Amino acid sequence: MECEIILQIFSGGFLGETVSYETVEKKLLSVLPALPVKKVIMGWAPGKALYEKTAEFLAQRNIDFYLWLPVFSETGAIRELAPLIDMHGRPFETVKSLAAEDFSFYCPNNPRNIDKILDIFEQEFAAVPFSGVFLDKIRYPSFAQESVFSCFCPHCLKEYEAAHFSPPALENALSRPMETPLGIKSYLGNGNYVYEDNDISKYFSLKAGIILKSMQRICAFFRERGLKIGFDVFAPFLSAFVGQDLTGFSNLCDFMKPMMYRVTNGPAGLPFEMEAFLSGTNSGEAAKRQAFNEILGLDQGKKDFDLDFTLNELRRLASSCACPVYAGVEINRKENIADVKPEYIEETLPAYARTGIRGLVLSWDLISMPEENLKKVKEIMEKLN
Ligand SMILES: [Zn+2]
Repeated sequence: MECEIILQIFSGGFLGETVSYETVEKKLLSVLPALPVKKVIMGWAPGKALYEKTAEFLAQRNIDFYLWLPVFSETGAIRELAPLIDMHGRPFETVKSLAAEDFSFYCPNNPRNIDKILDIFEQEFAAVPFSGVFLDKIRYPSFAQESVFSCFCPHCLKEYEAAHFSPPALENALSRPMETPLGIKSYLGNGNYVYEDNDISKYFSLKAGIILKSMQRICAFFRERGLKIGFDVFAPFLSAFVGQDLTGFSNLCDFMKPMMYRVTNGPAGLPFEMEAFLSGTNSGEAAKRQAFNEILGLDQGKKDFDLDFTLNELRRLASSCACPVYAGVEINRKENIADVKPEYIEETLPAYARTGIRGLVLSWDLISMPEENLKKVKEIMEKLN
């Protein structure tokens, strides 16, 4: 089967600058003739004109157009959302900023939050003829955001009580000395870990259940409007710590994009999130680090994040999901965050393409992809298909 390409365009955040239609069109015209593109994702700056014109351009070429829409983060910039609550009943501080991307998270279990998030779509985007929505930030914060141990608001506490889960028991478990991060004993793939402690295990599976239930409601809303659905998700081995049940998700969406960013030193980037996980679980010292690498089967001695490990992750995910999987690969170049060179693309793209996935998402912003990177992608795709 042909390896498909999905393009992703960041049009701007909810606040701040928006990219112009002319810029988008110029870039699309330069890459579309050379690549097997079936879908384009763009978001999430408000303003209908940009999307209407792009929708028309893509419809003429028979390409699906997805709105890139963040869910449990970013949305607090334009709606008053209930924050995540810590174990002691205090809200985690939300940072309202004008920066293009914001990593404050909101309670995914609060029905009013979901109403308000869906209202953003209704007010800002419902009039545009999108083929579908591409839902991002469908998760809790990761260790990079220092608020993993949330949410303990009244809605969430009620849920925990019904499942006979006690937050003080979790706090107790977390304070005990452990030989591996979080007392993890083994990794079964697709984000499934075996933990020494039942409360820690239960806590992470409850969070995954909460996100899954909320996503069922959110997806029903978009399905009623005749829209297709894509999900932006963490790499499987990281998904467990942010409440993402990837195989469960695969029953809700039409495609899933695990972010397999091997050289990104920012949120969702594998080296970045791995370091945040180790420091966030007090596992920075050599022995615990080594123990976790062995559990994962990960070689951390390589220059870039272990390619063989990421290939295994993709193979296992693609063979267990009910929907097609498209690997997210960073192609753009962002100073100090993603120093993506053609050599990296050459090493990564063809290897990912051979793991049983349906295709690749050139991430995460077409507008900031250097010409030499795009040239390399075109060369590789010509050989692959
Ligand atoms: Zn909550």
